[in-house]
Amino acid sequence: MPSYVILEKCDGCKGQDKTACMYICPQDLMVLDKEKMKGYNRAPEMCWECYNCVKICPQQAIDVRAYADFVPMGASVVPLRGSEDIMWTVKFRNGQVKRFKFPIRTTPEGKANPLAGYATGTDDIKSPILCTEPASTGQDTLPTLK
Ligand code: SF4
Ligand code: SF4
Repeated sequence: MPSYVILEKCDGCKGQDKTACMYICPQDLMVLDKEKMKGYNRAPEMCWECYNCVKICPQQAIDVRAYADFVPMGASVVPLRGSEDIMWTVKFRNGQVKRFKFPIRTTPEGKANPLAGYATGTDDIKSPILCTEPASTGQDTLPTLK
C-alpha cells in the first residue's frame, strides 16, 4: 500500500527544484506537479512503504496506507521527526494511543564522520573487501581460503 500526499497540507516545498520527498525517496517515486505545486507519488505500485517521505516532509503532508497486519483498518501509525529523535504515535482501533520516542543520532548534526577515522584509499572501489576492513575487524589481514 503506497504513500500518498495530503493535498491540503502540501506546499510543494515552496517551489524548490527538488522537494524534500523527491530528495529522500529511494525509489525516485515522488515528483512535483509544478502547475498545482503539489507533490505526488507517480508510481504507487512501486512504493516500498519505507516511510522516508513521511518522515522528511516538513508539512507532515504525506501518509502511508500501511498493510493491515501492521496497521489494521481504523488504526494509524504516524512518525514525527525532530532534530534529535523521532516520535511514533500509534493509535489502536479501540482508541488507545501510545507514543514511542527514539533517538536518531549519536553525533551532533553535521558532525558525522562516515569513515570513522579509518584510512581509505582511492583504489578501495576495486577491492573485494569492505570499506574499513581489515582494520575494523581487529585483524591485520582477513582470513582467506588456502
Ligand atoms: Fe509536499 Fe511534503 Fe513533498 Fe514538500 S515534501 S512537496 S510539502 S509532500
Ligand atoms: Fe518512496 Fe518510501 Fe515514500 Fe514509498 S514510502 S514514496 S518508497 S520514500
